Amino acid sequence: MWDSITRSCTLLFTIAMVIWAFADNMNTASARDEKDNNPALTAPDNAKEDQNPLLAKWTGKYGGVPPFDRVQVSLFKPALEAGMAEQLAEVDKIARDPAAPTFENTIVAMERAGRTLDRVTTLYGVWAATMNGPEFQVVQREMAPRLAAFGDQITQNEALFKRIEAVYNSPDKAKLTAEQQRLVWLYYTNFVRAGARLAPEAKARLSQINQQLAGLYTRFSQNVLAEETDQFIVLKSEADLAGLPQSLRDAAAAAAVTKKVPDSWVIMNTRSAIDPFLTYSDRRDLREKAWRMFINRGDNGDAHDNNAIITEILQLRAERAKLLGYPTHAHWRLENAMAKTPERAMELMEAVWKPAVARVHEEVADMQALANKEGANIKIEPWDYRYYMEKVRKAKYDLDQNEVKPYLQLEKLREGIFWVAGELFGFNFTPVTDVPVAHPDIRVWEVTDRATKRHIGLWYFDPYARAGKRSGAWMNAYRSQEKVNGEITTIVSNNANFIKGKPGEPLLISWDDATTMFHEFGHALHGLNSNVTYPSLSGTAVARDYVEFPSQLMEHWLATPQVLQRFALHYQTGKPIPQELVDRIKRSATFNQGFATVEYLSAALVDMKLHLAGDKKIDPDAFERETLSQLGMPHELVMRHRTPQFLHVFASDGYSAGYYSYLWSDVLTADAFGAFVEGGGPYDAKVAARLRQYIFSVGNTIDPAEGYREFRGRDAKIEALMKKRGFAGDGSE
Ligand SMILES: [Zn+2]
Repeated sequence: MWDSITRSCTLLFTIAMVIWAFADNMNTASARDEKDNNPALTAPDNAKEDQNPLLAKWTGKYGGVPPFDRVQVSLFKPALEAGMAEQLAEVDKIARDPAAPTFENTIVAMERAGRTLDRVTTLYGVWAATMNGPEFQVVQREMAPRLAAFGDQITQNEALFKRIEAVYNSPDKAKLTAEQQRLVWLYYTNFVRAGARLAPEAKARLSQINQQLAGLYTRFSQNVLAEETDQFIVLKSEADLAGLPQSLRDAAAAAAVTKKVPDSWVIMNTRSAIDPFLTYSDRRDLREKAWRMFINRGDNGDAHDNNAIITEILQLRAERAKLLGYPTHAHWRLENAMAKTPERAMELMEAVWKPAVARVHEEVADMQALANKEGANIKIEPWDYRYYMEKVRKAKYDLDQNEVKPYLQLEKLREGIFWVAGELFGFNFTPVTDVPVAHPDIRVWEVTDRATKRHIGLWYFDPYARAGKRSGAWMNAYRSQEKVNGEITTIVSNNANFIKGKPGEPLLISWDDATTMFHEFGHALHGLNSNVTYPSLSGTAVARDYVEFPSQLMEHWLATPQVLQRFALHYQTGKPIPQELVDRIKRSATFNQGFATVEYLSAALVDMKLHLAGDKKIDPDAFERETLSQLGMPHELVMRHRTPQFLHVFASDGYSAGYYSYLWSDVLTADAFGAFVEGGGPYDAKVAARLRQYIFSVGNTIDPAEGYREFRGRDAKIEALMKKRGFAGDGSE
């Protein structure tokens, strides 16, 4: 797949603390005036634990596990209502405490609150992302604005904020540990940033905006999901299949069964189906058809069109930023990120943009020359890019992706990932079958410390595409590591959308997909390594433009000889991938970086510019077109996520004005791997120990820039990134 910064991965967050942080693809909807200040009194009948299993404490081994086997969609609404009511009651008690505010009775008390709702929203998030359907969507549309209002009820609780402020300003703060001081800072800052200091009228308007936005986010993501589910291309004959390798034909045949189209092959409207089709189909007419279908998701002028929703979202975000005292939504979003200001993020993007565009022109020239040589008599268009890119790869580097694939068995690579985690962090993985799962395809492993046998956590693996599961790959934390209520271990999952092949045969994946697996596993390791006290600071709960750093870093271990020789084994002969093939892969490492970088960066730049535009009314299609034209976007490719389907940005606040984060993190990634290269190589135990100590285990307990400096001995430099992408300027690759 794409290159490291463009991974569609995202993390799914639950309602950690009080803010409906984001849940990439999965937010929710409607506009209801939620002014019930004491919902505890109105908790519905099946809100009791004995009647609603979603409310119960998790039971079983490993400190309890999520009761996936007891979920029914009808239980979500009463469970969410009861969870919110319970948390509001807990918060109310903290706010009304007659004792003077202290770290313990205010901040720690807040950390202990909301546990029931945490459990419910974990299950709710899993259903939203992987088990979605019409019945669930009704619940989402109703509950999204109510969850938003609930968050505001907490951040707008004056008595509570006064206590947090008192702890923050108290001279006693200096006596707290560094982690505790950072937690106080985080609470105080989050409350202020969420409007805790506003006048009552402004607060009311803010809450209204948040509820409206939650409704719009839900509609946005449901529209994209609908177009990915309902639209597909039917192939009828051998001629329609021209160029497609057997694995794609098998997947298309399986999709036809799912879609109930007899005697046909089906190409679904998802990235995992479209990208390979565009890469291999010899049928230029069908490539164009598939490309148009995919890039027009949410932009078809029908019931699922997202343009009007985007206009409204942007206006509401601009208004909210003004209310909160920021010039734009981008300024508000970036304040606590590593970048701090939109200007710094733009500076980085612009530094990379020009060399990347120049590289695209070179790539297109190579492709055009090859097409001319073949007598194709065409001018390269966006639906030709992947197709000719693959041909150039073969011609220039003698590298055929299908030559690599037989060595990349999904399950062997999973074993490789486990082995790497063992080498770097001393983890051991043992399959377990005694915990419930949401779907029979999902498998679970227990993670233990190799030396001490101590239980570290659980890793759930949900690799296959299915109806109701959003596309892409991501990590999700079901439970964060913490010590505030005794030792709580973490539960994480990795999710992907591999298309199941023939039963009984090993599933072969591409090099890019293998890279993605290492990436997502990097997020999982970030969660599993966590060693903090407070859940709000745990694992992956770090700044948005830092969170992709540990995951992108892990991608580097796929290409290490140790992994390839042991785990990249031919699915028929069992022989390891030949060194000369590995050498060819390495020689082509910076191949196509123009495409990958411009595809990603154009989306990141449009995202940032949309959110720097202030409160003027924006026509998304026109804005996108004009912005790209001003940037000098090469016409042979499109944004990785066009505005009407940009779930990172419009399915929640998540990556809004934050899609640049992948590039920001990649500066750190490229630079950090240098520490291993300069040391004893990728498995240097001393460097790995520093990595764990200052990056993977600390969560958000320290400033990420400081953590990085401790690890590397200095700040990150951009040079390693430019070199990694082949933009170093010396023309070599
Ligand atoms: Zn990621």
